[in-house]
Amino acid sequence: MTEETPRPRPTPRGELHTQFAVPPDPATLFARRAARFAARAEGHDLAPYLHFMVGIAQVQAALLPALPPLAPIPADHAARAAAHGMPPIDRARLVDDPALTDTIARFLAAAAIPMPDPAAAALARLRADPAAQRQHLANALEDAVAADAVAEHVFIAAALQLHAARLAAQLPPDLLKPVGTGVCPACGGAPVASVLVDRPGAHHARYCVCATCATQWNAVRVTCVLCGGTQGIAYHHIEGRDAGIAAETCNACHGYVKLLSQAEHPELDPVADDVASLGLDLKLQDAGWRRGAVNPFLTGY
Ligand SMILES: [Zn+2]
Ligand SMILES: [Zn+2]
Repeated sequence: MTEETPRPRPTPRGELHTQFAVPPDPATLFARRAARFAARAEGHDLAPYLHFMVGIAQVQAALLPALPPLAPIPADHAARAAAHGMPPIDRARLVDDPALTDTIARFLAAAAIPMPDPAAAALARLRADPAAQRQHLANALEDAVAADAVAEHVFIAAALQLHAARLAAQLPPDLLKPVGTGVCPACGGAPVASVLVDRPGAHHARYCVCATCATQWNAVRVTCVLCGGTQGIAYHHIEGRDAGIAAETCNACHGYVKLLSQAEHPELDPVADDVASLGLDLKLQDAGWRRGAVNPFLTGY
């Protein structure tokens, strides 16, 4: 593993006026992710699992056009949340959202894809038990997964991602304000990774990406996205592997979150490449670092 400490660098012009929050585009998000999982599966040690993930993302993409229109979050609710420093999507209320319950049922019905036996058994259990669906959803909304429910979590979290991305895509970006370090301004979720982007109005700016709704929010570079610390930040990567991916470690909280350079590698997908770069997690955790990111498809690491 190679470690680098950051060199001081001036803030590029333009970063000061960077748009704070960028909503997801569900119409492209899941199809691109499926393609990226497929590309990463080639010759990978985890190929069988990555192919299963291709299927999951394809189901997410395929369901999207068939889902009934979502009622947008009422503007007065969103404004009230913003006034109290809360994200407009209230995760605690999603457990009883009938549109999400419907999306979960449709996802489970559509998930007839090649999968490992434990996943197939979990899918059968979920299909037969709406009460279990609700319980696993409640856990997924809190990023709390029981060790014996990892297989169920994949399906429920995938349906939740689909619903949350659709909700977030409807939010006016100007409404989204910072709600806390490492917290999604749209849904209150944790980041799956951060990305360096190069796009109009955001020249080499860094964004965190929500593991649940895929909203991006601007985060100052060389600053821990978990605790906000700026001292003792370093970057780790494995020589010759996972091009464009490094882990940003923080001496203050001993946590790390991966940083993906989409500026140099636009094909990188935070969810897919986080799973495919599991080897980097194993090295870091061997060295005593704590994984601070959330990824429903990497539960248990
Ligand atoms: Zn979110
Ligand atoms: Zn930290």
